[in-house]
Amino acid sequence: MLQKCEGIVIRTTDYGETNKIVTLYTREFGKVGVMARGAKKPNSRLTAVTQLFTYGQYLFQASTGLGGLQQGEMISSMRAIREDIFLTAHASYIVDLTDKVTEDRKSNPFLFELLLQTLNYMNEGYDLEILTNIYEMKMLNVQGLYPILDRCANCGSTEGEFHFSIKEGGLICHRCFERDPYRFKIAPGTVKLLRLFYLLDLNRLGNISVKPETKAELKKVISAYYDEYSGLYLKTRKFLDQMDSFRDML
Ligand SMILES: [Zn+2]
Repeated sequence: MLQKCEGIVIRTTDYGETNKIVTLYTREFGKVGVMARGAKKPNSRLTAVTQLFTYGQYLFQASTGLGGLQQGEMISSMRAIREDIFLTAHASYIVDLTDKVTEDRKSNPFLFELLLQTLNYMNEGYDLEILTNIYEMKMLNVQGLYPILDRCANCGSTEGEFHFSIKEGGLICHRCFERDPYRFKIAPGTVKLLRLFYLLDLNRLGNISVKPETKAELKKVISAYYDEYSGLYLKTRKFLDQMDSFRDML
């Protein structure tokens, strides 16, 4: 049976001399692996549509194992992402994270939309670090993680000064600061953005401009939370950190 879907290429692996195994994140079926026969040959009609980050319509032969990719029609090649090493680094992390935290054939149209929108924004030149942080915050629920950001994780208070506690799993208020001497002492603006990123409808992202100090705080908190709770160790994350420190040197 042939199945049609709208998908984004989130991973490709060479298979033999001429074939590729392609992982698509699709609107209809969630994550799907397909065999693209001949896709490594330069003149194959599958070459262009099986490049990493490509967004398109795909037709594949469904089977119990890997389906066979029959046809693809490109909607966007995400060209700007492919042509810039910093963009590529961020987008690679985004698709890798998606790949690692999702299961095969479990559809999640919300997540598909989020991934597509994030890559589109990256492709259009929006702030990469902010987009990556928003994506990370939104991927927490997919991993079964629910940081407490709307009140103090310890006493439940919604008023006062807030810091972020990895140990308590979210924000803690000034009355509870002593519970965690290792808490992140973040500025009120960073607290607001953490909440916003977690709850924001990405379609409504305007031009957020964030100070470098705030960006640094966001990155620290989100990375630490991921390190503690996600159980992931992604090479693409490591590469991204290297690229960021390289860029800071320039
Ligand atoms: Zn408290």
